[in-house]
Amino acid sequence: MPDVSVWRAMAGLDDRTVIERVAFEEGRPGRTERVVLHVRPSRRKGEHDRCGRCGRRSPGYDGGRRREWRSVDCGLTQMWLAADAPRVRCAEHGVTVARVPWARHGAGHTLVFDAQVAWLAVRTSKSTVRELLRIAWKTVGSVIDRVWADISAEIDLLDGVRKIGIDEVSYKKNHRYLTIVVDHDTGRVIWAAPGLGAATLSTFFDELGPERTAALTHVSADAAHWIASTVTQRAPQAILCADPFHIVAWATDAIDTVRRQEWRALKALADTERAEQDRRVGRPTADDPKPETPRQDLAREFKNARYSLLKNPDNLTQDQSLTLKWITASSPRLHEAYAFKEKLRIVFQARGKQGKRILDAWIKEAGRSTLEPIQKLCKSVVRIRASIEASLEHGLSQGLIESTNTKIRLFTRMAFGFHTPQALIALVMLNLGGPTLTLPGRT
Ligand SMILES: [Zn+2]
Repeated sequence: MPDVSVWRAMAGLDDRTVIERVAFEEGRPGRTERVVLHVRPSRRKGEHDRCGRCGRRSPGYDGGRRREWRSVDCGLTQMWLAADAPRVRCAEHGVTVARVPWARHGAGHTLVFDAQVAWLAVRTSKSTVRELLRIAWKTVGSVIDRVWADISAEIDLLDGVRKIGIDEVSYKKNHRYLTIVVDHDTGRVIWAAPGLGAATLSTFFDELGPERTAALTHVSADAAHWIASTVTQRAPQAILCADPFHIVAWATDAIDTVRRQEWRALKALADTERAEQDRRVGRPTADDPKPETPRQDLAREFKNARYSLLKNPDNLTQDQSLTLKWITASSPRLHEAYAFKEKLRIVFQARGKQGKRILDAWIKEAGRSTLEPIQKLCKSVVRIRASIEASLEHGLSQGLIESTNTKIRLFTRMAFGFHTPQALIALVMLNLGGPTLTLPGRT
């Protein structure tokens, strides 16, 4: 059969797979719906009778049933592989389906198909992958999960780490979190697991092992108590640095509290004013709706100004930037709260000795503020002052944690429809863990 090599090349199979015959299946009349390659593992290459989980040669158990695997498309047509899936009895794993050279154990897709899915999933959009490859999004989740499992078994991302950052990212409502560890030197995400808290973080240190844990010099994290206590217990030699990104996030929370207080006060005032006006000129009717009062307008601006106040000023659109100016000019309290946040950002831009000096001034000033949320923020900053100063001294990047956090939140939305947090972790690691994915058939 001279054209076997053509089919072999099309399906990305090597000589460990024997193609027995090729069938064309019609769907609608006159239209080939599927190309099916009927295959088996090569006996000559010793590929038969191996445990699907460990690859050990094992005695046959039964003939199993006929199974099919989706492969890459053959031109415009779907291509499938079909083969018997006999079971073997492995000394270690018991009765299990025999290994096949063209697919991962338990997968319904071939290795080349998996590789194509993973490559596309990290480079393009959800709808592109789904439509181009004609697969469900949850299937993409299962594929990248097993691709990452194989890659992570081959590479050791935890090797040689000295400075790490710990972060937690919410990935679902009801307080579902991923704990993420990044390497400050390489900028990579080196570890991620579902869960939050000391127990989850402990599994990271278990995997890192005592020697590599002892080699850690700096750990940056937000001020969560469980992180501090776990790091102090497991890596007492490492300098604990407060993550600037999280400290600035506290400040934006304080601003938002002030914004809500201002909005409520304005609204109450506007409502009273309106009620008085209505009493004087009569209630508005559906035919003759009275325009909003200026104060009602302003209250609405406060209600909608959240994003303008919370984003970094450099990232604002022109509209948001104007909203910000208007709002802070209209409210001295909000103006003050906003200034405290911006000054805190300057502390982290300054770093080193200068950073410490400005931090000191900031604390003194914030301690005298009449705004209760700023007082509270000040107390939190003072409580972890030592680790903020460590962060200023050792200059661990704010940008890395911030940008990783932002990207992971994007992947979290993209992962909507995946069935497990492991698939989300695979998406994160394939994107941010630094492996280079290649398309099947390319080197
Ligand atoms: Zn086995």
